[in-house]
Amino acid sequence: MTQENKNLITNYSSAKFSWLKSGGNISHLYKVHNQIELNNLFIQNDIKTKSFLVIGNLSNTLIKDEGFKGIGIKLLGDFTDVQVNSDHMLVGAAVLDNYLSKFCYQKSITGYEFLFTIPGSIGGNIFMNAGCYNQEIKDKLISVIYYDANQNKIFEKNISELQFDYRKGFQKNNTIILYGKFKITYKDQDYIKSLMNEYDIIRKQSQPQKVNCCGSIFKNPKNQSAWRLIKSSIDESFYNGPIKLSRTHSNFFENEPNISANSIDLFISKIQKRVKDKHKIMLEKELRIID
Ligand SMILES: Cc1cc2nc3c(=O)[nH]c(=O)nc-3n(C[C@H](O)[C@H](O)[C@H](O)COP(=O)(O)OP(=O)(O)OC[C@H]3O[C@@H](n4cnc5c(N)ncnc54)[C@H](O)[C@@H]3O)c2cc1C
Repeated sequence: MTQENKNLITNYSSAKFSWLKSGGNISHLYKVHNQIELNNLFIQNDIKTKSFLVIGNLSNTLIKDEGFKGIGIKLLGDFTDVQVNSDHMLVGAAVLDNYLSKFCYQKSITGYEFLFTIPGSIGGNIFMNAGCYNQEIKDKLISVIYYDANQNKIFEKNISELQFDYRKGFQKNNTIILYGKFKITYKDQDYIKSLMNEYDIIRKQSQPQKVNCCGSIFKNPKNQSAWRLIKSSIDESFYNGPIKLSRTHSNFFENEPNISANSIDLFISKIQKRVKDKHKIMLEKELRIID
């Protein structure tokens, strides 16, 4: 990993920073602190001929061992700010969930307690329509502010114009999510704190802790639980080895650090095949695997 200039890192190691502690390099990663830098990056570089990948907190991304040869983009600076206005909250895409949840508690804003337990960023949440405990990011959003790299322009789209679905949020090609405009409702801090604690306890009881993992591997098929389908399809061998299913939650795996990303991908495919053979259901990956 080399810092070429203050905003460019070559051979950025995703394994070093991802929640899985695995993954190939991003050949060129640009750090972007504000809208001017973003515009300059797209105007001055020949990016349009290459593919680009925006990274958030890498809690739901696995880059295959061959690495990502396009342009990586990491938002920082202005995009880490939260601004509370009279009727909405403007949240930068690089703001971390846990930070936002605690920030809202400090300001007595309710509705963001569930984010206390998700290890992503607001950009990643909006991309994935992240959620838990019967809440999703789409329920809290008023609009998404994004950069359209084809037109070199910033747009704002109201949530009513967007087709968010279960674990499928704002996934428009060649765009970068810059900010989310969020609803605000006030409540007393004791209520907010108790909800954060409640979610934290549920999370600790139901999911593996202090291990390398990516959260749920697969989306739940309609009216089914991925973990149940997996549990009923696999044998004991899936619970052993350097990449293994979690005994706490069978839709999670745990892996040793620096394990090959391709071997994780293969492990996931094997689970998929077992479930397909047994239940005739093809599980859809929630984890983003990047070639
Ligand atoms: C322990 C653990 C628990 C988890 N629990 C949950 C849970 O309860 N609910 C849940 O929904 N998820 C959960 N996840 C998954 C993950 O945290 C979420 O999907 C989160 O929204 C990903 O955010 P991120 O910033 O880490 O995204 P990344 O992994 O960095 O990126 C995910 C995708 O979003 C895109 N992206 C990120 N930022 C931007 C941007 N600014 N513009 C355009 N595209 C962008 C990336 O290109 C990538 O395709 C969990 C993960 C872990 C490790």
